Amino acid sequence: MLTNHAPTAELQAIDAAHHMHPFTAGAELNAKGARVITRANGVYLTDSDGNEILDGMAGLWCVNIGYGREELADVAAQQMRQLPFYNTFFQTTHIPALTLAKRIAELAPGDLNHVFFNGSGSDANDTNLRMVRHFWAAQGKPEKQVVISRWNGYHGSTMGAASLGGMKGMHAQGGLPIPGIAHINQPDWWSEGGDMTPEEFGIARARELEAKIEEIGADKVAAFIAEPVQGAGGVIVPPDSYWPEINRILAKYDILLIADEVICGFGRTGNWFGSQTMGMTPDIMTTAKGLSSGYAPIGASIVSDRVAQVINEAGDFNHGYTYSAHPVAAAVALENLRILDEEGIVERAGKVTAPYLKAKWEGLGDHPMVGDTKIVGLMASLALTPNKDRRANFAADAGTVGLICRERCFANNLVMRHVGDRMIISPPLVISESEIDLLAERAWKAIDETYQAVR
Ligand code: PLP
Repeated sequence: MLTNHAPTAELQAIDAAHHMHPFTAGAELNAKGARVITRANGVYLTDSDGNEILDGMAGLWCVNIGYGREELADVAAQQMRQLPFYNTFFQTTHIPALTLAKRIAELAPGDLNHVFFNGSGSDANDTNLRMVRHFWAAQGKPEKQVVISRWNGYHGSTMGAASLGGMKGMHAQGGLPIPGIAHINQPDWWSEGGDMTPEEFGIARARELEAKIEEIGADKVAAFIAEPVQGAGGVIVPPDSYWPEINRILAKYDILLIADEVICGFGRTGNWFGSQTMGMTPDIMTTAKGLSSGYAPIGASIVSDRVAQVINEAGDFNHGYTYSAHPVAAAVALENLRILDEEGIVERAGKVTAPYLKAKWEGLGDHPMVGDTKIVGLMASLALTPNKDRRANFAADAGTVGLICRERCFANNLVMRHVGDRMIISPPLVISESEIDLLAERAWKAIDETYQAVR
Protein backbone atom coordinates (compact mmCIF):
# COMPACT_ATOMS: atom_id res chain seq x y z
CA MET A 1 0.00 0.00 0.00
CA LEU A 2 1.17 3.55 -0.71
CA THR A 3 2.17 5.48 2.41
CA ASN A 4 1.54 9.01 3.65
CA HIS A 5 5.01 9.82 2.34
CA ALA A 6 4.20 9.23 -1.33
CA PRO A 7 4.35 12.47 -3.36
CA THR A 8 0.99 14.21 -3.64
CA ALA A 9 1.08 14.27 -7.44
CA GLU A 10 1.52 10.50 -7.57
CA LEU A 11 -1.43 9.93 -5.24
CA GLN A 12 -3.58 12.34 -7.22
CA ALA A 13 -2.76 10.68 -10.53
CA ILE A 14 -3.76 7.23 -9.23
CA ASP A 15 -6.90 8.68 -7.68
CA ALA A 16 -7.94 10.44 -10.90
CA ALA A 17 -7.30 7.27 -12.92
CA HIS A 18 -9.29 4.84 -10.75
CA HIS A 19 -11.38 6.45 -8.06
CA MET A 20 -14.85 7.75 -8.96
CA HIS A 21 -15.85 10.36 -6.37
CA PRO A 22 -19.30 11.35 -5.12
CA PHE A 23 -20.50 14.80 -6.20
CA THR A 24 -17.31 15.55 -8.14
CA ALA A 25 -16.72 16.15 -11.83
CA GLY A 26 -14.14 13.68 -13.17
CA ALA A 27 -12.59 16.33 -15.39
CA GLU A 28 -11.91 18.48 -12.35
CA LEU A 29 -10.01 15.62 -10.72
CA ASN A 30 -7.82 15.29 -13.78
CA ALA A 31 -7.20 19.00 -14.02
CA LYS A 32 -6.64 19.89 -10.38
CA GLY A 33 -6.19 16.64 -8.49
CA ALA A 34 -8.02 15.74 -5.29
CA ARG A 35 -6.96 17.07 -1.92
CA VAL A 36 -5.36 14.11 -0.14
CA ILE A 37 -6.12 13.99 3.59
CA THR A 38 -3.73 11.76 5.45
CA ARG A 39 -4.54 12.12 9.15
CA ALA A 40 -6.58 14.08 11.64
CA ASN A 41 -6.63 15.00 15.30
CA GLY A 42 -9.10 17.05 17.34
CA VAL A 43 -10.51 19.61 14.88
CA TYR A 44 -7.52 19.54 12.52
CA LEU A 45 -6.89 17.64 9.30
CA THR A 46 -3.45 17.10 7.81
CA ASP A 47 -3.05 16.85 4.04
CA SER A 48 -0.35 15.14 2.01
CA ASP A 49 1.59 18.40 1.73
CA GLY A 50 1.68 18.71 5.52
CA ASN A 51 -0.87 21.52 5.78
CA GLU A 52 -2.86 21.62 9.04
CA ILE A 53 -6.43 22.51 8.11
CA LEU A 54 -9.14 23.52 10.59
CA ASP A 55 -12.12 21.32 9.74
CA GLY A 56 -15.12 23.60 9.97
CA MET A 57 -17.38 20.82 8.62
CA ALA A 58 -16.59 17.93 11.03
CA GLY A 59 -15.84 15.80 7.98
CA LEU A 60 -19.29 15.71 6.43
CA TRP A 61 -21.27 17.05 9.42
CA CYS A 62 -20.41 13.94 11.40
CA VAL A 63 -17.26 13.92 13.52
CA ASN A 64 -19.05 15.31 16.57
CA ILE A 65 -16.50 14.10 19.15
CA GLY A 66 -13.54 15.25 17.05
CA TYR A 67 -10.81 13.16 15.43
CA GLY A 68 -8.32 10.85 17.08
CA ARG A 69 -10.29 9.29 19.94
CA GLU A 70 -8.35 6.11 20.68
CA GLU A 71 -11.21 4.64 22.71
CA LEU A 72 -13.23 4.09 19.54
CA ALA A 73 -10.32 2.39 17.81
CA ASP A 74 -9.86 0.11 20.83
CA VAL A 75 -13.53 -0.82 20.98
CA ALA A 76 -13.56 -1.59 17.24
CA ALA A 77 -10.49 -3.82 17.51
CA GLN A 78 -11.91 -5.65 20.51
CA GLN A 79 -15.27 -6.20 18.80
CA MET A 80 -13.56 -7.42 15.62
CA ARG A 81 -11.72 -10.03 17.66
CA GLN A 82 -14.79 -11.16 19.56
CA LEU A 83 -17.53 -11.08 16.91
CA PRO A 84 -16.62 -9.22 13.70
CA PHE A 85 -19.92 -9.91 12.03
CA TYR A 86 -23.22 -11.48 12.58
CA ASN A 87 -26.57 -10.51 11.13
CA THR A 88 -29.79 -9.56 12.87
CA PHE A 89 -32.17 -11.22 10.38
CA PHE A 90 -34.49 -14.15 11.16
CA GLN A 91 -34.75 -13.75 14.93
CA THR A 92 -31.08 -13.36 15.73
CA THR A 93 -29.40 -10.63 17.73
CA HIS A 94 -26.08 -9.79 19.38
CA ILE A 95 -25.02 -7.73 22.36
CA PRO A 96 -23.80 -4.55 20.58
CA ALA A 97 -27.13 -4.38 18.69
CA LEU A 98 -29.43 -4.73 21.65
CA THR A 99 -27.32 -2.53 23.93
CA LEU A 100 -27.16 0.25 21.34
CA ALA A 101 -30.90 0.04 20.62
CA LYS A 102 -31.62 0.43 24.34
CA ARG A 103 -29.22 3.37 24.69
CA ILE A 104 -30.69 5.18 21.68
CA ALA A 105 -34.20 4.64 23.05
CA GLU A 106 -33.09 6.18 26.36
CA LEU A 107 -31.67 9.24 24.64
CA ALA A 108 -34.50 9.78 22.14
CA PRO A 109 -37.40 11.99 23.24
CA GLY A 110 -40.99 10.92 23.90
CA ASP A 111 -42.09 7.44 22.94
CA LEU A 112 -39.37 6.89 20.32
CA ASN A 113 -38.38 3.58 21.89
CA HIS A 114 -37.60 1.28 18.96
CA VAL A 115 -34.67 1.16 16.56
CA PHE A 116 -34.23 -0.28 13.07
CA PHE A 117 -30.55 -0.25 12.10
CA ASN A 118 -29.22 0.78 8.68
CA GLY A 119 -25.84 1.29 7.08
CA SER A 120 -26.22 5.02 6.43
CA GLY A 121 -28.60 7.95 6.44
CA SER A 122 -29.77 7.19 2.89
CA ASP A 123 -30.52 3.57 3.80
CA ALA A 124 -32.37 4.76 6.88
CA ASN A 125 -34.61 7.00 4.80
CA ASP A 126 -35.38 4.14 2.43
CA THR A 127 -36.31 2.09 5.49
CA ASN A 128 -38.55 4.91 6.70
CA LEU A 129 -40.24 5.31 3.33
CA ARG A 130 -41.13 1.63 3.26
CA MET A 131 -42.05 1.59 6.94
CA VAL A 132 -44.59 4.43 6.80
CA ARG A 133 -46.26 2.94 3.73
CA HIS A 134 -46.36 -0.48 5.39
CA PHE A 135 -47.72 1.13 8.58
CA TRP A 136 -50.82 2.42 6.80
CA ALA A 137 -51.27 -0.62 4.56
CA ALA A 138 -51.17 -2.91 7.60
CA GLN A 139 -54.11 -0.93 8.99
CA GLY A 140 -56.21 -1.40 5.88
CA LYS A 141 -55.21 1.87 4.22
CA PRO A 142 -53.00 0.73 1.33
CA GLU A 143 -53.74 3.89 -0.64
CA LYS A 144 -52.17 6.12 2.05
CA GLN A 145 -48.75 6.04 0.39
CA VAL A 146 -47.59 9.51 -0.66
CA VAL A 147 -44.74 11.09 1.25
CA ILE A 148 -44.47 14.88 1.11
CA SER A 149 -41.05 16.50 1.36
CA ARG A 150 -39.45 19.81 0.46
CA TRP A 151 -37.57 21.29 -2.44
CA ASN A 152 -33.93 21.79 -1.49
CA GLY A 153 -34.21 19.26 1.33
CA TYR A 154 -31.54 16.55 1.39
CA HIS A 155 -32.30 12.99 2.45
CA GLY A 156 -29.54 10.97 0.77
CA SER A 157 -28.52 9.40 -2.51
CA THR A 158 -30.36 6.10 -2.94
CA MET A 159 -33.33 6.03 -5.33
CA GLY A 160 -35.77 6.45 -2.44
CA ALA A 161 -33.78 8.96 -0.43
CA ALA A 162 -32.84 11.12 -3.42
CA SER A 163 -36.50 11.13 -4.49
CA LEU A 164 -37.51 12.28 -1.02
CA GLY A 165 -34.86 14.95 -1.30
CA GLY A 166 -35.59 18.06 -3.27
CA MET A 167 -32.30 18.56 -5.06
CA LYS A 168 -33.13 19.26 -8.68
CA GLY A 169 -29.62 18.38 -9.86
CA MET A 170 -30.05 14.92 -8.39
CA HIS A 171 -33.53 14.44 -9.85
CA ALA A 172 -32.09 15.26 -13.26
CA GLN A 173 -29.96 12.08 -13.22
CA GLY A 174 -31.23 8.50 -13.07
CA GLY A 175 -34.96 8.97 -13.58
CA LEU A 176 -36.02 10.51 -10.28
CA PRO A 177 -38.21 11.01 -8.37
CA ILE A 178 -39.84 7.61 -7.98
CA PRO A 179 -43.66 7.69 -7.85
CA GLY A 180 -45.52 8.63 -4.69
CA ILE A 181 -43.38 11.57 -3.57
CA ALA A 182 -44.61 15.20 -3.63
CA HIS A 183 -42.61 18.33 -2.85
CA ILE A 184 -43.47 21.68 -1.32
CA ASN A 185 -41.33 24.82 -1.01
CA GLN A 186 -38.74 25.35 1.71
CA PRO A 187 -38.96 27.94 4.50
CA ASP A 188 -35.99 30.01 3.30
CA TRP A 189 -37.01 33.55 4.17
CA TRP A 190 -33.76 35.25 3.09
CA SER A 191 -33.97 34.06 -0.51
CA GLU A 192 -37.67 33.56 -1.03
CA GLY A 193 -39.51 35.62 1.60
CA GLY A 194 -40.15 38.70 -0.60
CA ASP A 195 -41.94 41.44 1.35
CA MET A 196 -43.29 39.15 4.06
CA THR A 197 -41.97 39.21 7.61
CA PRO A 198 -40.18 36.00 8.58
CA GLU A 199 -43.14 35.04 10.77
CA GLU A 200 -45.70 35.56 7.99
CA PHE A 201 -43.48 33.67 5.60
CA GLY A 202 -43.06 30.74 8.02
CA ILE A 203 -46.85 30.37 8.24
CA ALA A 204 -47.26 30.73 4.47
CA ARG A 205 -44.70 28.01 3.73
CA ALA A 206 -46.19 25.68 6.36
CA ARG A 207 -49.62 26.18 4.80
CA GLU A 208 -48.24 24.87 1.52
CA LEU A 209 -48.21 21.52 3.30
CA GLU A 210 -51.91 21.87 4.07
CA ALA A 211 -52.66 22.86 0.47
CA LYS A 212 -50.68 19.88 -0.84
CA ILE A 213 -52.49 17.47 1.51
CA GLU A 214 -55.85 18.88 0.36
CA GLU A 215 -54.79 18.57 -3.28
CA ILE A 216 -53.67 14.93 -2.96
CA GLY A 217 -56.28 13.92 -0.37
CA ALA A 218 -55.37 13.18 3.27
CA ASP A 219 -56.41 9.55 2.75
CA LYS A 220 -53.50 9.21 0.29
CA VAL A 221 -50.76 10.92 2.31
CA ALA A 222 -48.63 8.71 4.56
CA ALA A 223 -46.07 11.11 5.96
CA PHE A 224 -44.21 14.38 5.79
CA ILE A 225 -40.40 14.22 5.97
CA ALA A 226 -38.16 17.16 6.81
CA GLU A 227 -34.88 18.07 8.42
CA PRO A 228 -35.42 20.12 11.61
CA VAL A 229 -32.87 22.55 10.12
CA GLN A 230 -31.99 21.94 6.46
CA GLY A 231 -28.29 21.16 6.30
CA ALA A 232 -27.07 20.39 2.80
CA GLY A 233 -29.58 22.89 1.41
CA GLY A 234 -27.48 25.64 3.01
CA VAL A 235 -28.30 25.58 6.75
CA ILE A 236 -31.76 27.02 6.23
CA VAL A 237 -33.28 27.83 9.61
CA PRO A 238 -37.09 28.10 9.44
CA PRO A 239 -38.82 31.11 11.00
CA ASP A 240 -40.17 30.45 14.54
CA SER A 241 -43.73 30.27 13.23
CA TYR A 242 -43.00 27.35 10.88
CA TRP A 243 -42.81 24.18 12.98
CA PRO A 244 -45.81 24.95 15.26
CA GLU A 245 -47.97 25.40 12.16
CA ILE A 246 -46.63 22.19 10.59
CA ASN A 247 -47.41 20.32 13.83
CA ARG A 248 -50.98 21.62 13.75
CA ILE A 249 -51.48 20.52 10.15
CA LEU A 250 -50.04 17.02 10.63
CA ALA A 251 -52.24 16.43 13.69
CA LYS A 252 -55.33 17.68 11.86
CA TYR A 253 -54.91 15.23 8.97
CA ASP A 254 -53.35 12.31 10.92
CA ILE A 255 -50.16 12.26 8.88
CA LEU A 256 -46.89 10.85 10.24
CA LEU A 257 -43.82 13.03 10.71
CA ILE A 258 -40.35 11.75 9.83
CA ALA A 259 -37.70 14.07 11.25
CA ASP A 260 -34.50 13.59 9.28
CA GLU A 261 -31.95 14.05 12.05
CA VAL A 262 -28.97 12.72 10.12
CA ILE A 263 -27.19 16.05 10.66
CA CYS A 264 -29.17 17.48 13.57
CA GLY A 265 -29.06 14.35 15.75
CA PHE A 266 -26.57 13.69 18.56
CA GLY A 267 -25.82 17.21 19.64
CA ARG A 268 -25.47 19.30 16.49
CA THR A 269 -28.24 21.77 17.40
CA GLY A 270 -27.23 22.01 21.07
CA ASN A 271 -29.66 19.33 22.28
CA TRP A 272 -29.44 15.61 21.68
CA PHE A 273 -31.90 15.95 18.79
CA GLY A 274 -32.94 18.78 16.48
CA SER A 275 -36.59 17.87 17.10
CA GLN A 276 -36.12 19.01 20.69
CA THR A 277 -34.55 22.28 19.59
CA MET A 278 -37.24 22.99 16.99
CA GLY A 279 -40.27 21.75 18.95
CA MET A 280 -41.20 18.74 16.79
CA THR A 281 -42.76 15.43 17.88
CA PRO A 282 -41.80 12.97 15.15
CA ASP A 283 -43.13 9.45 14.68
CA ILE A 284 -39.78 8.39 13.23
CA MET A 285 -36.34 9.98 13.36
CA THR A 286 -33.69 9.24 10.74
CA THR A 287 -30.19 9.24 12.22
CA ALA A 288 -26.63 8.37 11.11
CA LYS A 289 -23.47 10.56 11.05
CA GLY A 290 -23.17 11.76 14.70
CA LEU A 291 -24.41 8.38 15.98
CA SER A 292 -20.86 7.06 15.53
CA SER A 293 -19.23 10.47 14.95
CA GLY A 294 -18.41 9.05 11.53
CA TYR A 295 -15.93 6.51 12.97
CA ALA A 296 -18.02 3.65 11.53
CA PRO A 297 -20.85 3.60 8.98
CA ILE A 298 -24.17 3.15 10.75
CA GLY A 299 -27.68 4.62 10.59
CA ALA A 300 -30.69 4.20 12.80
CA SER A 301 -34.41 4.73 12.25
CA ILE A 302 -35.80 5.58 15.68
CA VAL A 303 -39.45 4.61 15.78
CA SER A 304 -42.37 5.52 18.07
CA ASP A 305 -44.38 3.01 20.10
CA ARG A 306 -47.40 3.66 17.86
CA VAL A 307 -45.59 2.87 14.60
CA ALA A 308 -43.50 0.01 16.00
CA GLN A 309 -46.54 -1.73 17.42
CA VAL A 310 -48.28 -1.82 14.06
CA ILE A 311 -45.13 -2.92 12.20
CA ASN A 312 -44.29 -5.59 14.78
CA GLU A 313 -47.81 -7.03 14.73
CA ALA A 314 -48.09 -7.09 10.93
CA GLY A 315 -45.86 -10.14 10.43
CA ASP A 316 -42.44 -10.01 8.81
CA PHE A 317 -41.20 -6.56 7.77
CA ASN A 318 -39.57 -7.73 4.54
CA HIS A 319 -36.70 -5.30 4.68
CA GLY A 320 -33.13 -5.24 6.02
CA TYR A 321 -29.49 -4.82 5.17
CA THR A 322 -26.63 -7.27 5.66
CA TYR A 323 -25.00 -4.58 7.75
CA SER A 324 -28.09 -3.64 9.81
CA ALA A 325 -26.62 -3.36 13.33
CA HIS A 326 -23.13 -4.38 12.19
CA PRO A 327 -21.50 -5.37 15.51
CA VAL A 328 -18.32 -3.34 15.03
CA ALA A 329 -20.23 -0.22 13.97
CA ALA A 330 -22.70 -0.70 16.83
CA ALA A 331 -19.90 -1.07 19.40
CA VAL A 332 -18.20 2.05 18.05
CA ALA A 333 -21.49 3.99 18.17
CA LEU A 334 -22.05 2.92 21.78
CA GLU A 335 -18.62 4.16 22.78
CA ASN A 336 -19.23 7.42 20.92
CA LEU A 337 -22.52 7.93 22.79
CA ARG A 338 -20.76 7.18 26.08
CA ILE A 339 -18.14 9.85 25.36
CA LEU A 340 -20.73 12.42 24.18
CA ASP A 341 -22.69 11.85 27.38
CA GLU A 342 -20.06 11.29 30.07
CA GLU A 343 -17.81 14.12 28.91
CA GLY A 344 -20.80 16.46 28.76
CA ILE A 345 -20.02 17.27 25.11
CA VAL A 346 -23.64 17.76 24.02
CA GLU A 347 -24.45 19.85 27.06
CA ARG A 348 -21.37 22.04 26.67
CA ALA A 349 -22.02 22.42 22.94
CA GLY A 350 -25.49 23.81 23.67
CA LYS A 351 -24.73 25.95 26.70
CA VAL A 352 -21.19 27.20 26.15
CA THR A 353 -19.85 26.58 22.64
CA ALA A 354 -22.98 27.53 20.67
CA PRO A 355 -23.37 31.01 22.21
CA TYR A 356 -19.65 31.68 21.75
CA LEU A 357 -19.75 30.58 18.12
CA LYS A 358 -22.96 32.57 17.54
CA ALA A 359 -21.31 35.83 18.64
CA LYS A 360 -18.30 35.21 16.39
CA TRP A 361 -20.40 34.03 13.44
CA GLU A 362 -22.75 36.99 13.62
CA GLY A 363 -19.67 39.21 13.71
CA LEU A 364 -18.93 38.07 10.16
CA GLY A 365 -22.18 39.85 9.23
CA ASP A 366 -20.25 43.14 9.55
CA HIS A 367 -18.46 42.32 6.31
CA PRO A 368 -19.96 44.28 3.38
CA MET A 369 -20.46 41.08 1.36
CA VAL A 370 -22.20 39.08 4.11
CA GLY A 371 -25.95 39.54 4.09
CA ASP A 372 -27.46 36.94 6.35
CA THR A 373 -26.00 34.93 9.18
CA LYS A 374 -27.93 31.98 10.54
CA ILE A 375 -26.95 29.65 13.34
CA VAL A 376 -28.54 26.92 15.43
CA GLY A 377 -26.25 25.17 17.89
CA LEU A 378 -23.10 24.33 15.97
CA MET A 379 -24.47 24.52 12.43
CA ALA A 380 -24.34 27.87 10.71
CA SER A 381 -24.51 29.62 7.37
CA LEU A 382 -24.04 33.02 5.85
CA ALA A 383 -25.17 34.45 2.54
CA LEU A 384 -22.67 36.17 0.28
CA THR A 385 -24.48 39.03 -1.40
CA PRO A 386 -23.75 41.97 -3.69
CA ASN A 387 -26.33 44.04 -1.77
CA LYS A 388 -27.42 43.11 1.72
CA ASP A 389 -30.23 45.69 1.96
CA ARG A 390 -31.99 44.16 -1.03
CA ARG A 391 -31.16 40.56 0.07
CA ALA A 392 -29.74 40.24 -3.45
CA ASN A 393 -28.14 37.15 -4.96
CA PHE A 394 -25.21 37.05 -7.36
CA ALA A 395 -27.88 36.25 -9.91
CA ALA A 396 -26.30 35.32 -13.20
CA ASP A 397 -23.66 32.95 -11.92
CA ALA A 398 -25.06 31.65 -8.62
CA GLY A 399 -22.52 29.55 -6.81
CA THR A 400 -19.45 31.03 -8.49
CA VAL A 401 -18.72 33.43 -5.68
CA GLY A 402 -19.35 30.69 -3.11
CA LEU A 403 -16.91 28.45 -4.94
CA ILE A 404 -14.24 31.16 -4.96
CA CYS A 405 -14.79 31.64 -1.25
CA ARG A 406 -14.49 27.90 -0.59
CA GLU A 407 -11.15 27.90 -2.40
CA ARG A 408 -9.98 30.94 -0.44
CA CYS A 409 -10.93 29.08 2.76
CA PHE A 410 -8.74 26.15 1.74
CA ALA A 411 -5.91 28.53 0.90
CA ASN A 412 -6.25 29.81 4.47
CA ASN A 413 -6.33 26.31 5.95
CA LEU A 414 -10.04 26.24 6.75
CA VAL A 415 -12.70 23.83 5.50
CA MET A 416 -15.92 25.72 4.93
CA ARG A 417 -18.41 24.42 2.37
CA HIS A 418 -20.50 26.42 -0.05
CA VAL A 419 -24.06 25.79 -1.19
CA GLY A 420 -24.58 28.21 -4.05
CA ASP A 421 -23.47 31.49 -2.53
CA ARG A 422 -24.12 30.44 1.07
CA MET A 423 -21.11 29.44 3.12
CA ILE A 424 -21.75 26.83 5.78
CA ILE A 425 -20.00 25.35 8.82
CA SER A 426 -20.66 22.47 11.17
CA PRO A 427 -17.50 22.02 13.24
CA PRO A 428 -16.80 19.17 15.67
CA LEU A 429 -18.79 19.76 18.88
CA VAL A 430 -15.53 19.70 20.85
CA ILE A 431 -14.16 22.82 19.16
CA SER A 432 -12.61 25.13 21.76
CA GLU A 433 -13.09 28.88 22.10
CA SER A 434 -9.61 29.65 20.76
CA GLU A 435 -10.26 27.34 17.79
CA ILE A 436 -13.53 29.21 17.15
CA ASP A 437 -11.56 32.48 17.20
CA LEU A 438 -9.22 31.02 14.58
CA LEU A 439 -12.13 29.74 12.49
CA ALA A 440 -13.76 33.19 12.47
CA GLU A 441 -10.45 34.89 11.68
CA ARG A 442 -9.76 32.60 8.72
CA ALA A 443 -13.36 32.84 7.51
CA TRP A 444 -13.22 36.66 7.53
CA LYS A 445 -9.93 36.62 5.63
CA ALA A 446 -11.30 34.20 3.02
CA ILE A 447 -14.51 36.24 2.60
CA ASP A 448 -12.50 39.41 2.24
CA GLU A 449 -10.18 37.89 -0.35
CA THR A 450 -13.27 36.75 -2.25
CA TYR A 451 -14.70 40.27 -2.02
CA GLN A 452 -11.49 41.76 -3.43
CA ALA A 453 -11.56 39.20 -6.25
CA VAL A 454 -15.16 39.78 -7.38
CA ARG A 455 -15.89 43.47 -6.74
N1 PLP B 1 -30.29 12.96 5.48
C1 PLP B 1 -29.63 14.11 5.72
C2 PLP B 1 -30.35 15.23 6.40
C3 PLP B 1 -28.30 14.25 5.35
O1 PLP B 1 -27.67 15.41 5.55
C4 PLP B 1 -27.66 13.16 4.73
C5 PLP B 1 -26.24 13.27 4.32
O2 PLP B 1 -25.65 14.31 4.32
C6 PLP B 1 -28.39 11.99 4.50
C7 PLP B 1 -29.69 11.91 4.90
C8 PLP B 1 -27.75 10.81 3.83
O3 PLP B 1 -26.87 10.19 4.68
P1 PLP B 1 -25.73 9.24 4.09
O4 PLP B 1 -24.81 10.09 3.30
O5 PLP B 1 -25.12 8.64 5.34
O6 PLP B 1 -26.40 8.21 3.27
